[in-house]
Amino acid sequence: MNIRIKLVSSFGVVVIGMLTALGIITYLTFSETILKDRKRYFDSSARNAAEMVDAYLVRELEVVTHALQPLVKDGRLTRPDPQRMAHIFDHFRKHPVLSGVALYDVHGQDLAISYGMVGIGFPDSFHSILSNHKLTSFNVGKELFVALPITDDNGAKTNFVILVRVNSRSLETFLKKQAIPDSLLMVFFDSQHIVTVYPGNKEDFPDIQPAEFGSEARAKADKLNNRFDVFSYVGSTVSVRLTYLVPKKVMLADVITLKDRVITALLLLGWISIWIVLLIAHRLAKPIVKLSKASEDIITFSYGEPLDFSPSNDEVGKLAKNLEIMRMKIKELISIDPLTDVYNRRYMMHALEMAVTKSVRTCEELSCIMLDMDHFKSINDKYGHLGGDEVLIALGTLLKSHVRIYDVVARFGGEEFAIILPGVAISEANQTAERIRKAIEALSVNFKGQQINFTISAGVSSLSLIAVKTPDALIDSADIALYSAKSLGRNTVALYCEIENAKS
Ligand code: GH3
Ligand code: MG
Ligand code: MG
Repeated sequence: MNIRIKLVSSFGVVVIGMLTALGIITYLTFSETILKDRKRYFDSSARNAAEMVDAYLVRELEVVTHALQPLVKDGRLTRPDPQRMAHIFDHFRKHPVLSGVALYDVHGQDLAISYGMVGIGFPDSFHSILSNHKLTSFNVGKELFVALPITDDNGAKTNFVILVRVNSRSLETFLKKQAIPDSLLMVFFDSQHIVTVYPGNKEDFPDIQPAEFGSEARAKADKLNNRFDVFSYVGSTVSVRLTYLVPKKVMLADVITLKDRVITALLLLGWISIWIVLLIAHRLAKPIVKLSKASEDIITFSYGEPLDFSPSNDEVGKLAKNLEIMRMKIKELISIDPLTDVYNRRYMMHALEMAVTKSVRTCEELSCIMLDMDHFKSINDKYGHLGGDEVLIALGTLLKSHVRIYDVVARFGGEEFAIILPGVAISEANQTAERIRKAIEALSVNFKGQQINFTISAGVSSLSLIAVKTPDALIDSADIALYSAKSLGRNTVALYCEIENAKS
């Protein structure tokens, strides 16, 4: 796998991991706070509503008590004045919160006075509730009843109890008028669904049935509990239990909004991060890719440009530095002749090829000198190979010191050397060869206390003198000139043009 892909994928994994962690932490922290606040809000709203219903019922019951209590005197029911009763019932008619009222004698179980209680007898279950002589509320079917014990003038208990039937419609209207939070949709008194208030979205309760929420149907209640958050309160006086259902969806509305925002923010961050990751990966991968390319140059050995690296002290910087040193060393090993310290034939051919190409393109002069030691074999014979080597070393040093820095001096083979002179015409090359020849003639090499003198023959040629302008043709022409210098008696310089001229 490519280094860029590796870097991008590993950075990508880290970035995605960090973003995910960030998202989860943000979401969990804030959603918890939001949920807590929402719960507190619904909780206090539901509690207030329960207290309001309680106070409302208490107020209504006071009216009833006020009207009916005087009918009980000394523990006995006085004969109600029909006119007064008509007046009281008229009041109920005008204030239809309580849809029915009855005055019961607990012991006698008689229905002493009844209004709007048609069909409501005195069920046995009432007896135990009423005998407690406490204000109590209870359901019968879907209806809510409140029972109030009557005390006599001295505050002592009597056998009489007022039973009122609460008009659920009126309560519904009452609750609707209150500031009920948007999504408190249903109110249950005890286990029975009495009032339905829909300030919010009715669709949140598509299939809810009163019976689903009750002690009789635990399983269904649990099912409801999964769908709703339940807030349940008992009014402090009338003891009516109000149960509010808030759909979980509504409860989580802000949390869902937060989640959407977190996801959007993370996507945006992710998008920006991907670009940053790509940029960093590119910057990190660039020098490594360059190094990899440079190492290929070393293997194939191309005499390419030195590595272009901004100096850095990190591992990549060190690697680049070492690679460049390695490259220089290898270049030296494969281009320099170890004995004479001039370029070898391989490098010379490369340099000549470049020079010829350039010269052909720019029409610039290019000359070449081939030189060969005269009777070198006899030097070897006389002074031994080591003596011959010493002479070769001295010759290399002298040649280097007699050319310009952009000229290339190379050992072509054995005791034969070549000099490439870019931008130099034949006459100037001839002068250089002649200068070299004279310098060699004057040179004396010290070998183990003995002075060795030697001469060279040189052939000079120039690209402008040959028809086929190739490196081989240039060398061949210079070689021809060298051969002719040898035949002219050695220790001499011959020009290729002279030979051509001589031929013609
Ligand atoms: P000519 O004037 O015709 O060039 O005669 P020459 O003796 O110089 O030429 P020849 O080709 O007969 O001999 C070249 C000698 O150079 C033979 C070889 O042993 C010797 N030689 C080649 N390379 C080296 C080297 O690296 N060191 C030493 N000491 N001698 C070498
Ligand atoms: Mg020779
Ligand atoms: Mg030779």
